[in-house]
Amino acid sequence: MDISGLKRRGLMYVLSSPSGAGKTTITRALLEKNADKMIISISATTRQQRASEVDGQDYYFSDIPEFNKMVEEGDMLEHAKVFDNYYGTPRAPVEKALSEGKDVIFDIDWQGTQQLREMARDDLVTVFILPPSARELENRLRNRSQNTLETDAQIRGRMSKSNDEMTHYSEYDYVLINQDIDKTITQAQMILDAERLKRRRLIGLSDFVRGVKEGR
Ligand code: 5GP
Repeated sequence: MDISGLKRRGLMYVLSSPSGAGKTTITRALLEKNADKMIISISATTRQQRASEVDGQDYYFSDIPEFNKMVEEGDMLEHAKVFDNYYGTPRAPVEKALSEGKDVIFDIDWQGTQQLREMARDDLVTVFILPPSARELENRLRNRSQNTLETDAQIRGRMSKSNDEMTHYSEYDYVLINQDIDKTITQAQMILDAERLKRRRLIGLSDFVRGVKEGR
């Protein structure tokens, strides 16, 4: 019997962290390692597009009326206000991927994670990434701002928001301290591999066991 074809339900893999903890790098690495089995949920946002960002790839950039319309029509799985801007997860691509047995990775904040937990606890795996120290977090934010032309006030805003965000680590299933990026990526993959083996996600298991019993 071919066990690689065992039918399973996709899972929703949420990565949250204060900005600057390494979440984007980890997300990209997981997507690369799991290319045929995982998609990223591309959020909609009312935030201004940064020079390095591509519409439809990093985010769907929209204006406030367009964003509100999606919320009102029930097209968002969750939505929240983060740093004065609105962010939300379009529903349709997520539902399609899960039903095809693919996993979906989300880069969303604690508010969005709480909303997903209320509606989809069984499909959800949540991971919080912490920076190794305050100094390292500040360094990473300052380095990044050189690329994004953020002002000092914006960086201070992100530092204080990071501290707020960090208080929510205890609501997550797993917590990773990102001291060494390669090690953290390995750990994030280990969590994914173990969660994929959860019995309730292996919907093809009863057919498989029947097959083994019948001598196939
Ligand atoms: P940034 O503006 O730096 O791209 O993202 C700011 C914050 O918004 C990050 O913490 C990110 O996780 C969060 N975020 C991005 N997309 C979404 C979303 O669709 N929903 C929620 N709740 N948060 C999001």
